[in-house]
Amino acid sequence: LSFDDFKLNKQLQEAVREAGYQKPTPVQEKTIPLTLAGHDVLGIAQTGTGKTAAYLLPILYKVKYAQGMYPRALILAPTRELVMQIEAEAKKFAAYTDIRMLALYGGLGPKTQIEALEAGVDLLISTPGRFMELYRKGVLFPRELKTMVLDEADKMLDMGFMPQIRSILEVIPRKRQNLLFSATFSGKVEQLSHEFLAFPERVEL
Ligand code: AMP
Repeated sequence: LSFDDFKLNKQLQEAVREAGYQKPTPVQEKTIPLTLAGHDVLGIAQTGTGKTAAYLLPILYKVKYAQGMYPRALILAPTRELVMQIEAEAKKFAAYTDIRMLALYGGLGPKTQIEALEAGVDLLISTPGRFMELYRKGVLFPRELKTMVLDEADKMLDMGFMPQIRSILEVIPRKRQNLLFSATFSGKVEQLSHEFLAFPERVEL
């Protein structure tokens, strides 16, 4: 199996080639077709398995073809470092597309982030706290979100983000596709997966 076997478009395939990815990892092989087909996905996968590209490639594909004024996909991650890492990978894959993405995290004043939101964003990558902060300021419109990812869900729960995640779920559209990735599958992650995912396909290594 090669990346060309997935129903991704030419721009994404070209970027994958340039990244030097020869063939999909096992988690990519399973996750990419399930996500393209619209399933919710529960991925039990650690860092190093290629989980980031496994959800980014189908999401970039979907975002590209879903028209809208406001963000169509949201990726939540526990830390600023991880948000920046995901953004870097997403930028690499989106190099030949016109997809506009924005990374949101605390630590800096929100001014540049607000300006970028006002200019228009297709894909948001955010920590849970900063997302709600900007939502409450009235500068972030989540009504067109169609896909949502929780990355490193176990870490998000360990860091106490459950209340923020619940607040986010209350303000985004109910009808959407959800992906949850976690290195471990504890009772807390299982509880979150029941709240967040609908009839998920389970991908495990
Ligand atoms: P991740 O598990 O998403 O943190 O990815 C781990 C590392 O593997 C990252 O540096 C990726 O750029 C790299 N990677 C992901 N998928 C592939 C692939 N199919 N072939 C080669 N490297 C990959």
